[in-house]
Amino acid sequence: MNEVLIYSDKPSLAAELVGFAREEEHDVTIVTFSPEEASELVGCGASKVVLLDGDSDIPENNARALAGLIDEWGVSLFAVGATPRGRDLAARVAGYLGCGMASDVSAVHLLDGKLSTERLMYGGAMVRSEEFSTPVVVTIPSGRFEAVRGVDSPLETIVIQPDMRVHLVEREPLSQEGADLSCAPRIVSVGMGVSKREDMALIEGLAAALDARIGCTRGIAEERGWVPAEQYVGISGVSVAPDLYLSVGVSGQVQHMVGVRDAKVIVAIDKNEKAPIFREADFGIVGDLYAVVPLLTDALVTAR
Ligand SMILES: Cc1cc2nc3c(=O)[nH]c(=O)nc-3n(C[C@H](O)[C@H](O)[C@H](O)COP(=O)(O)OP(=O)(O)OC[C@H]3O[C@@H](n4cnc5c(N)ncnc54)[C@H](O)[C@@H]3O)c2cc1C
Repeated sequence: MNEVLIYSDKPSLAAELVGFAREEEHDVTIVTFSPEEASELVGCGASKVVLLDGDSDIPENNARALAGLIDEWGVSLFAVGATPRGRDLAARVAGYLGCGMASDVSAVHLLDGKLSTERLMYGGAMVRSEEFSTPVVVTIPSGRFEAVRGVDSPLETIVIQPDMRVHLVEREPLSQEGADLSCAPRIVSVGMGVSKREDMALIEGLAAALDARIGCTRGIAEERGWVPAEQYVGISGVSVAPDLYLSVGVSGQVQHMVGVRDAKVIVAIDKNEKAPIFREADFGIVGDLYAVVPLLTDALVTAR
């Protein structure tokens, strides 16, 4: 019996999902539809990797065949990396199986044929706990579990019959202006406390000293247009899970902080000691960013 089956079109996220399964001591298999991904996935610590060879360029076309295998193999949990493609596939597989599904869970436990999950509701103001009987499908965003690496698994190939009613006509690269923050290990986040566009050079210097990506609040992206919209963090922006989230002139309103919940360490610089961000920060510096940021950047550069 394959207790936990994993799919992610991002191999690094598949390795994190294996981390979850291993933490709970479940037997775990990874499925993929791509020979290129399969060669990366064999190093992710699963009991085996199964390449489902279906001769379709669209992973979603394999949903029905995959649901059939999940049924045949007696899989309890199909855990899918929460990427746009993963979410699409997960919903289709759950539909074909006629089973329960939970999207973008923050916690998941499989015990005695029952799956319990937690996910944030109402902009993170509440945690919703749910229980499912198996089989069940969940999507899990990155940053929830420690990735497993360097443990090789055998690769098996199974030929499947995809649903060919939809076929690919043409591929065009998506023009994305901003950086992908979802897997960034360090983020320096800029808020409306930075008063002039040219002062962004201070933030860029700090980010370079930390080898960090730049994130921001909504106003910086949408009102001022100083940072691409893909890089604003929060309920209507992206959720991030870096090791370090260093905010500069960010007040810490709930709509922003929802996107930062999974940061391991939050450091805040703000001149207002009553700013809500200090309630959530692990370390806070109360001071004028125009004095603090250059000192911090110099100290970081010197310490290298
Ligand atoms: C439906 C809805 C959805 C939203 N979604 C999002 C979202 O996804 N993401 C998001 O970010 N926001 C979102 N918002 C907006 C959110 O409510 C806040 O308004 C926003 O996050 C505040 O951004 P800020 O911290 O940059 O600005 P402010 O709240 O104005 O804070 C600026 C901070 O800078 C400090 N400061 C000023 N000058 C200095 C200085 N010289 N040195 C040091 N500190 C200084 C101030 O003390 C203050 O704390 C949403 C709002 C709504 C209503």
